[in-house]
Amino acid sequence: MPSLAKTKSKSLKTKKVALKNGHKNGHKNGIKVSASLSGKTAVLKKAGKVAKRTFFFGGGKAEGTKEMKNLLGGKGANLAEMANIGLPVPPGFTITTEVCTEFYEGGKKLPKALGDDIRAQIARMEKVVGAKFGDPKNPLLVSVRSGARASMPGMMDTILNLGLNDKTAEGLAAKSGNERFAYDSYRRFVAMYGDVVLGLKPEKKEDHDPFDEILAAKKKARGVKLDSDLPADALKELVGEFKAEIKKRLGMDFPNDPYAQLEGAIKAVFQSWRNDRADLYRRLNNIPVEWGTAVNVQAMVFGNKGADSATGVCFTRDPASGENVFYGEFLVNAQGEDVVAGIRTPEKIEALGNVLPKAYKQLLDIRKKLEKHYKEMQDIEFTIENGTLYMLQCRNGKRTGFAGVRIAVEMVDEKLISKEEALRRVEPEALNQLLRPVFLPAAKKQAIEGGRLLAKGLPAGPGAATGKVVFFADEAEALAAKGETNLILCRHETSPEDIRGMNASLGFMTAFGGMTSHAALVARQMGKVCIVGCDALSFDYHARTMTVTTAQGEVVVKEGDWISIDGFAGEVINGRVDTTPSEVIRVLIEKNLDAKEAPVYQRYAKLMSWADAARRLRVRANADQPDQSEAAVAFGAEGIGLCRTEHMFFGEGKIGPMREMIVAENETDRRAALAKLLPLQREDFHGIFKAMAGRPVTIRTLDPPLHEFLPHDEAGVKDLARSTGKSVEEIHARIEELKESNPMLGHRGCRLGITYPEITEMQARAIFEAAVDLASEGEKVFPEIMIPLVGTKKELDLQADVVRKTAAAVFAEKGKKVAYTVGTMIEVPRAAMTAGEIAQTAEFFSFGTNDLTQTTYGLSRDDVPRVLASYLQHDIYTVDPFVSVDRKGVGGLMKMAVAAGRAEKPKLKIGICGEHGGDPSSVEFCHEIGLDYVSCSPYRLPIARLAAAQAALKAT
Ligand code: PEP
Ligand code: MG
Repeated sequence: MPSLAKTKSKSLKTKKVALKNGHKNGHKNGIKVSASLSGKTAVLKKAGKVAKRTFFFGGGKAEGTKEMKNLLGGKGANLAEMANIGLPVPPGFTITTEVCTEFYEGGKKLPKALGDDIRAQIARMEKVVGAKFGDPKNPLLVSVRSGARASMPGMMDTILNLGLNDKTAEGLAAKSGNERFAYDSYRRFVAMYGDVVLGLKPEKKEDHDPFDEILAAKKKARGVKLDSDLPADALKELVGEFKAEIKKRLGMDFPNDPYAQLEGAIKAVFQSWRNDRADLYRRLNNIPVEWGTAVNVQAMVFGNKGADSATGVCFTRDPASGENVFYGEFLVNAQGEDVVAGIRTPEKIEALGNVLPKAYKQLLDIRKKLEKHYKEMQDIEFTIENGTLYMLQCRNGKRTGFAGVRIAVEMVDEKLISKEEALRRVEPEALNQLLRPVFLPAAKKQAIEGGRLLAKGLPAGPGAATGKVVFFADEAEALAAKGETNLILCRHETSPEDIRGMNASLGFMTAFGGMTSHAALVARQMGKVCIVGCDALSFDYHARTMTVTTAQGEVVVKEGDWISIDGFAGEVINGRVDTTPSEVIRVLIEKNLDAKEAPVYQRYAKLMSWADAARRLRVRANADQPDQSEAAVAFGAEGIGLCRTEHMFFGEGKIGPMREMIVAENETDRRAALAKLLPLQREDFHGIFKAMAGRPVTIRTLDPPLHEFLPHDEAGVKDLARSTGKSVEEIHARIEELKESNPMLGHRGCRLGITYPEITEMQARAIFEAAVDLASEGEKVFPEIMIPLVGTKKELDLQADVVRKTAAAVFAEKGKKVAYTVGTMIEVPRAAMTAGEIAQTAEFFSFGTNDLTQTTYGLSRDDVPRVLASYLQHDIYTVDPFVSVDRKGVGGLMKMAVAAGRAEKPKLKIGICGEHGGDPSSVEFCHEIGLDYVSCSPYRLPIARLAAAQAALKAT
């Protein structure tokens, strides 16, 4: 048995190397290998005293289960579960996420006591496998992988073939009778460890990986094309050359002691929890940094042992469309990372039936068993070593929004899951994809007939995107920051470092890699359009061009050229192609597609009907035009939660009288201008009431400061002077007079209506005249008049009085009444603090969380982008508070207001109409604090409906 690591850190001294692309992974350089794994350390696991740090799996049983994700991470928990249900899992153990916390709390040191634990677990693995760690004759090799609670594909680090050194490599060669295999594994290990643990990276973004460069030189020297054509002695030379490069560039020797290697690898995986890309991924996916990652140490099995060995990745259903077919890819004679990294383009899983039929049949059985057991689409990794199948991973598979809905709905039809479970499964945001554009069929046909189809690749992310070509992720990010929204990132392949640029692009495509490559996984998760494995592309990053080999010859596409990608068909088209809305949009909004011919729409409608049955919260839309109101109803709105009347003033013919009203010097002139606006406003309300067919419509009186309506250029000023009979100087003087130092906190909201009650009066008259007219025609109407920016009861009293007096006058004139209510927005902290008093007058509340967030934080909603990035980086905000309600602060005020309002009026109707009304987490909060409805933009209604259903299901 080898002795444990005694390596001194001096041999692995840190040396700075230039880092690839500014990537902040300096921590990875020179991981210090201490003697902590060798310590005669404290006894662990004394019941109740010290938490168990490692959990064994393998040999047909496991110490963990799938329920233990928090402690074992997703990968560890599922490895345990697969072992428990009798699937062939190579033995290993999981180091818990709690150890990750200990690691960081202890100043990036592994807890001393872990050493004994690891040795004991390695001994158990040795027994099951029948090989020994570090044994020169019969070496046990292990993989070391990360595994957080939530899957973070490719974000953290992995090391394979650990335990190899010059002696064990010889032993492996002798035992396997395959020298080439042994040295192929060894050179892969040294390169991976050199990169991940020791930190040897390319120096510039244009550079290739240093190990790849040495490999390429070797292939050239030996006159071969493929890695697999290199003979054993060349691979052996590579090991020496890789180590020499490490010594030259980092000034350190490669560690030979397997336990020293293991310690370095475990630390590197823990460190990778906090690397730059993992940080970003966590932020994008709301994964708390406190969770930490587990580490899985598992016996290696080899898919690169020859023609009867293979490795692959599969999904139990198609992750792009959701169709119930076995879906995946494999490579013969390869290691797992070859498939995921997208370095070689793999074969379709069905072909495995011809190559290794026995293993394929077993895999098909496992597919069924896993779906039955997990009742969920699984993403599985497998390896076949000399004809024997091993399962290396299973987890709930990532999927597109289309697939998410289809799988959930079909699993209900197949009686695998309940409707409630289906509702829980679909990410509300994923519904966005069902509303995504596709290419205009005629435009696409024309492009293809015109010879613009450049190439075909694998359709990894559905949807249609048309945009400008960009070759570097950092540049895509920079362009997006400048406001460029139409970008297509084109790369040979993508890596996790590219994630920001990918997020900034509409879509991306790669020359290499399959449906499970990095680009493909990220696309599905981000909901981007994506094509991978498009091997007609070749890149010259220095020249910033991409050459596409077509039947007609070569086409050179330059940076900034327009390109279109069809993520449904995998087609790449030269130039722009116009897009058209989704099936759901066509059925619901454009009404040019029959629901019976729209399967995507049908599944959407089914899911929505289940959501509507499950939710308690009502949903309304923020809409201020009749067509928006119609769209809102089509998306399921049960009312309008916010009609911003100011938006109407920018419509046809209205801005003129509005400006006249603003520059008027006395009430008489103001009233004259308002009289011109009255019929126009009445017509708007008429259209909205009609579209809403009796559903409640909350109309807010004028809110923005008046200067927003005045002309901003000289021509506009002259026009206004002409139409009002005033001089240009007079108009300028009025504009000057209306200037405010902080308009957001100035003369706006109910303050306008209090200084100019005739504005509120005109609006109320327009509302009631339209309502009474419609009621007379036999239509149902229910207006709710809402006063903005109220901070004191008296403000609301005064405005409510104007509204009620106007209503009474209109009803008297017309000889007909309609039911209506008057309420207020709660959007400044004082309103929340005095909500009890305000509720004496208000008949409803609606939280204006845009302003409430702004005024609670004292941070302008328009200026938040200036601080957001650094605030997120410093974890001051975990999420933009203007997107997701800050439950503690803003939410605290909301809770107070709900309690005080309902103490005064137990049945007080309360809703929310800030942007948060369409954010799933905020919707959940609104459910929790007992609001009656959420209101959001029409296109977010499906999301709000599903989020409301999930909130209700969670609460039961
Ligand atoms: C709000 O403040 O949340 C709100 C809905 O009003 P506005 O965004 O128009 O200020
Ligand atoms: Mg507001």
